Order: sequence, then structure tokens, then C-alpha cells
Amino acid sequence: MPRALLLENIDPVATEILGSAGYEVESMRGALDEADLIAALDGVDLLGIRSKTQVTAEVLRNRPDLAAVGAFCIGTNQIDLTAAAAAGVAVFNAPFSNTRSVVEMAIADIIILARRLVDRDRSLHAGTWDKSAAGSHEIRGRTLGIIGYGNIGSQLSVLAEALGMRVLFYDLEDKLALGNAERCDSLDELLERAETVTLHVDGRAGNAGLFGAEQFARMRPRSLFLNLSRGFVLDHEALRDSILSGHIAGAAVDVFPLEPREQGDEFTSVLRGLPNVILTPHIGGSTQEAQHDIGRFVAGKLVDYTATGTTTLSVNLPTVVLHGSSADRFALLHRNVPGVLARVDALVGEHGLNVDAQVLATRGEHGYAVTDVSAPLPADLLAGLATLPEAVRLMRFG
Ligand code: NAD
Repeated sequence: MPRALLLENIDPVATEILGSAGYEVESMRGALDEADLIAALDGVDLLGIRSKTQVTAEVLRNRPDLAAVGAFCIGTNQIDLTAAAAAGVAVFNAPFSNTRSVVEMAIADIIILARRLVDRDRSLHAGTWDKSAAGSHEIRGRTLGIIGYGNIGSQLSVLAEALGMRVLFYDLEDKLALGNAERCDSLDELLERAETVTLHVDGRAGNAGLFGAEQFARMRPRSLFLNLSRGFVLDHEALRDSILSGHIAGAAVDVFPLEPREQGDEFTSVLRGLPNVILTPHIGGSTQEAQHDIGRFVAGKLVDYTATGTTTLSVNLPTVVLHGSSADRFALLHRNVPGVLARVDALVGEHGLNVDAQVLATRGEHGYAVTDVSAPLPADLLAGLATLPEAVRLMRFG
């Protein structure tokens, strides 16, 4: 019976899905360090982790039989993706299972900031009745500027419009504007027109320090600002200065350049204690609904991959989308050099087999060819394929 090891308290739906697909599943609450992980992976086909377990080249080298790793989260920095591809280990994550959760929190932040609810709440907890409409606004009719119109930015656009906001967005790529949202040709144009600016860019290295004093200065006086994307894209000192000068009327920040590792660890930031500033501990995507969907999504990808060879949304292997499965299918992950497909087909032909269907995709140094043949696969054909000089890993399905 194939085995799956799930670490870091992954939602039980993953165990259900893998169990139904015939896996014996062991689930653990915590992460494992390198040595313990190598030991625990003995005889394991599928590994599920979240953000704390490091899947290093050493782990992969010691466990050559591991077929795939599921990152039951969004980020995959904790996995050596290059070493995984070189070892023929497919890696999957859940790129949009928590999108809605982040969007809902952004909407909540915008309303809370516009009504200055944080300050009202703090005053009342401190015993001071401070009833006033000064500086409080409806969000209806206000202009929201979204920087980064990807999964989160575009969904936020739809919900913000439903609440009566006007939406502008700026993205490096040419994105379809949803509803009545309006594309800005430059970041500066967005900053000069929006009354609330929210960052939803991805974590590419070039986005380090994307938003600082110059960008705050471009924003309209008394604007609101949100960052729920990545900590390193924002100059926190510049935000502090803009809040203290009154140029920015409020801010919500969920992500920080250096985040405490453990629950209960001290949090230090120049943003602590500022008026009308909401600080949250990187919880934009942290809801039970998102965790459940991550469990469902990643477990589903692992099952599809090991049952059919489909690599849809794998973060490290070439993408081959397959519909249905075949009784006699093999997939060859190989070095991306000329002539491999010809050699595969020649070997199949030498065994008197006909190729029913074949699909090849490449990604960087690797090619991935999935082949369906007309008759059961002979053992010596499989042995011949697995020992091709370019072969990284041969998988058999059916
Ligand atoms: P995505 O990849 O779907 O979208 C990112 C968009 O930003 C893309 O359209 C890209 O073209 C655009 N972009 C990148 N750099 C840009 C720049 N300099 N200027 C303008 N546009 C730029 O990503 P997503 O799923 O929408 O996630 C957005 C961000 O939110 C990511 O950084 C992600 O890590 C973060 N996130 C945070 C939480 C949380 O808990 N706070 C949860 C999930 C995701």
C-alpha cells in the first residue's frame, strides 16, 4: 500500500482524500528537522508539509523513492525546488485557496480605517467615551487603487465595487479589467488618483522596497494605505513618517520584513502604537475555510499526479494537462536535450507497440513526456526507458 506522511497539522480533508485514493496516511502535528524528516520518510511516497518543514537537497538525496511533495500553503521557499526537479519529485502548492480570505480582510481593513474604528475601540476600552463623526467616512463612492491585479487584487476589485467603491488598478502585465475597474498606465497615476491604496503584488525580488517615501508623497493627502502582500515591498519607516505627519490618515499592515517565528514571540516594529494603524500577524489568508480548501486542493493535485501523471500547477515540473487515464501509460521526466522523444518512440516501436497518445512539455532543464500505448507495457521496455542516459525518473500509471 502506498504511504503518505502529512506534517504540520494539515486539514483532515487531505487525509480523507489520500485515504480514499488508497494511501496509508500518517499525520503529525509538528514539523520535523532534517534528520528526523529523512528517517520519517523511509518507505513514504508522498510528503505533505506547510511552511516550517525544510525539504532540502539532502532530504531528497536520501529519499530517492519519494514521488511528490505537497506544500499545503502558498509559498514554496521551504522546498529546494531545483533539487526536487532534478530528483524527479513533483511539488504542488495551493496558489489561490486563501485568496477570498485575504480579500475579505482587506475589505474589513478598509472599512475599519475609514471609520477610525481602531482608535474608537482603544478609547472605549480605556474608559473614554469619544463619539464623533470627524474623520469618519463611508467607503461608498471612494476610489480604491489596487497595485497588483492578480488573484487577490482582481477579486478585491469585484468585492469593492459591489460595496460602491470606484476601482483603479495598476499591474506590470496587461490584465483584464473586471466590472468597471479602470487600468492605470503608471503607478504614479494610481497614487495621484486613489484615496485608498492597497498593495497586492507578488514576492519577486524586484519588488523589494517598491513602496517608500516617494510613493507616499505622491498619494493624496489623508489617504489610506494597506499592505497585505509581502513585508519587504514596503519601507516601514516611510509609512511611520507619513502617518505621524498626518499625510496618510490610516494604514493596515499584515506582513512584515522580519516576522517572529513562534507563537507568542515578541513583535518589534516601528509601526507599533501609531494612531489609526491596524497591525495583524500575517493572518490575511488564515481562516478555517482557506485551510480546508488548501487541504482539498493540494491532496487532489497529489492524487491526480500519482494516478495519471498530470502536472497541472506543479511549481517545479513541466506542465502536462491530461484528461482521464489510460491503462498503459508511462511518463518520462528527462533532461531537456534533443532526441529524447525519438529514442522513447524507437524503444516503444522495437517492442511492437503503437503510441496511442503522447504529450511533451519542457521547463528549463527538464522535459516531461507522457505516452499511452496500445498494449500492456513489457518490463524490459520499462527497464530500457528508465536507463536512457537522459532519464531522470520513469513513472508508470494504470
Ligand atoms: P498573483 O501572483 O496572482 O498576483 C500578483 C500580481 O502582482 C500579478 O498580476 C503581477 O503581475 C503583479 N505585480 C507584480 N509586481 C508588480 C509591480 N511591481 N507593480 C504592479 N504589479 C505587479 O498573487 P496573489 O495570489 O494575488 O497574491 C498577492 C500577494 O499577496 C503575494 O505577495 C502573496 O504572497 C500575498 N499573500 C498574502 C497573504 C496574507 O496572509 N497576507 C495570503 C496570500 C497571499
